[in-house]
Amino acid sequence: MYDGPVLDNHLHLDPVNGRGVDAAAEFAAAGGTHLNVLNKPSWHLVGDVDDADGFRETFEITLDVTAEADELLDGRAWPVLGVHPALISQLTERGYAPDEAVELMKIGIDVAAEYVAEGSALAIKSGRPHYEVPEAVWDASNDVMRHAFARAAEVGCAVQLHTEGGEEFTEVAEWAETAGLPRERVVKHYSGGYVEGPIPSVIARKDELERACGGDWPFFMETDFIDDPDRPGAVLGPKTVPKRTAWLAEQGYEEALYRAHVETPERVYDVETDATRSA
Ligand SMILES: [Zn+2]
Repeated sequence: MYDGPVLDNHLHLDPVNGRGVDAAAEFAAAGGTHLNVLNKPSWHLVGDVDDADGFRETFEITLDVTAEADELLDGRAWPVLGVHPALISQLTERGYAPDEAVELMKIGIDVAAEYVAEGSALAIKSGRPHYEVPEAVWDASNDVMRHAFARAAEVGCAVQLHTEGGEEFTEVAEWAETAGLPRERVVKHYSGGYVEGPIPSVIARKDELERACGGDWPFFMETDFIDDPDRPGAVLGPKTVPKRTAWLAEQGYEEALYRAHVETPERVYDVETDATRSA
């Protein structure tokens, strides 16, 4: 049996529209111990954002609910803060030129980096659209992502990426290294079982998890639970990572589970999940 910590590397808690900390309680009841809590996109939490204060307001909501989750978990809940790449489309629709949108999104990344620097957040979130966009918007998004790598290198943290699908992200990992950020501090959220370049944060579907467990590379498990009452079942629920962990343990994957829940978090975020449990 596997009795180590259980980390969901990417889940949202939305105390404004969703269940908030109750979803973390459900995760804990199912056997989950640690959470990396991502802020919902700013437009879901605070509406239109046009300056640093709008990002601060967004992040404070996530910091508060993550602190509540941290209280009730056997282990820890850590905030991961950043700017959803789809914000660029929101901004250009509202009349921003791509270069103006880049400026504002970089401000959002800077605010996230401030929270990391002061010790309130664990990592930064950035990326680029997962849908087709004009070339100028694509280039602008890559510019924002590379800014996130530079800021993360400065404050010494990892970056979670929201990107298009696929496995080949060598170029992105090279951009991180050019900015001074080791590629193993770059995590591709919502990935399949393997990614070339960054560390995969594997969406907790059985087939993808079995692929990751069968390999020898570092990986995380995640649900991308979005805590949106209007889209129930749009993504995996908060119990999924603990349930899949138990299922994988039954298949004999204890070593891989230790890799996903203990070794990879330590390597990428410099956190000790097994040493931060109260029970
Ligand atoms: Zn997400």
